[in-house]
Amino acid sequence: MALTEFGLIRRYFDRAASPGQATHASGVALGIGDDCALLRVAPGMELAVSTDMLVEGRHFSPGADARNLGHKSLAVNLSDLAAMGAAPRWATLALSLPEANPQWLEDFSEGLFALAGLHGLSLVGGDTTRGPLTISITVLGELPAGLALYRAGARVGDDLWVSGELGGASLGLAHARGEVKLERGDAAAALKRLHRPEPRVELGERLRGIATSAIDVSDGLAGDLMHILERSGTGALIEYARLPRPSAFHRLAVAEVALEARCVLAGGDDYELAFTAPQAAREELQALSKELGLALTRIGAMQPPGTEPQLLVLDAAGRPMPSQQGFDHFARFNA
Ligand code: ADP
Ligand code: MG
Repeated sequence: MALTEFGLIRRYFDRAASPGQATHASGVALGIGDDCALLRVAPGMELAVSTDMLVEGRHFSPGADARNLGHKSLAVNLSDLAAMGAAPRWATLALSLPEANPQWLEDFSEGLFALAGLHGLSLVGGDTTRGPLTISITVLGELPAGLALYRAGARVGDDLWVSGELGGASLGLAHARGEVKLERGDAAAALKRLHRPEPRVELGERLRGIATSAIDVSDGLAGDLMHILERSGTGALIEYARLPRPSAFHRLAVAEVALEARCVLAGGDDYELAFTAPQAAREELQALSKELGLALTRIGAMQPPGTEPQLLVLDAAGRPMPSQQGFDHFARFNA
């Protein structure tokens, strides 16, 4: 490597050390450069910690755009903080690189720091090694003690909500793989959903004290919802027609209705929030949706435990969808 390991870190990742950058990121007593970073968690706050790893060939294709990768590898982590109701504060980055390619590093760090800047997050450390391209980020966030949004808090009778739209990212993936042919504008929108997900950070924070449970939709609505059902000990009913989806699906051939159901119910990578809330919170959530300029859609309700199937999806005519035979029908291996 023409760049030494330390030169690389200083040049591309130590923003506090580069001229013109703020040297005093908030809550950082010591950033990159020593054996540990030192952070100050405000009194009365809890620290939320989450790690996600992206591996070339499994989570993204070889040759994937570096700026998109920088964005997405942080976005998937921020989405976990959002699902917990935590405000992003700090992150560490573990990078395994096959080579020190300056253009790649420039683009990757630009994508990463642009998103970090949007959310006031500082990169405080990491590790760099040579090896197959792998990106692992740990994010640390703060939230007032006791107010985290658990998967376990849903109650029978709660409404079930979802933010934004579902199925766009997996439609983009189907398009990229040549499994479906989209019009140019639809393709651009779907690929944007796939490559540049927008973590619902502000929504997550605002749901504290309103939502009874929450999860981010990373592996597909049906599968992710099962985690809430299992942890909360409830069932759920979803009305398929209510699920918000990109208008591109309306323009698909009739033969592709199965693709639509697969993307909307089981498609991964949308990074929306699915959450439950008491019926009494409907007006408050509608007002929040307006304020954030983000669709919040009521898609169903939590059912008593012991109902079979645990997750029932009804079509527009009120008939159980075939998926009720078991959602492994839609399963997606994402380990
Ligand atoms: P150590 O050997 O003590 O783990 P390193 O030599 O790996 O330290 O790293 C030196 C400093 O650079 C540490 O503060 C570490 O957190 C930081 N660092 C290493 N790699 C990265 C990276 N990819 N992004 C941000 N900081 C990094
Ligand atoms: Mg190290």
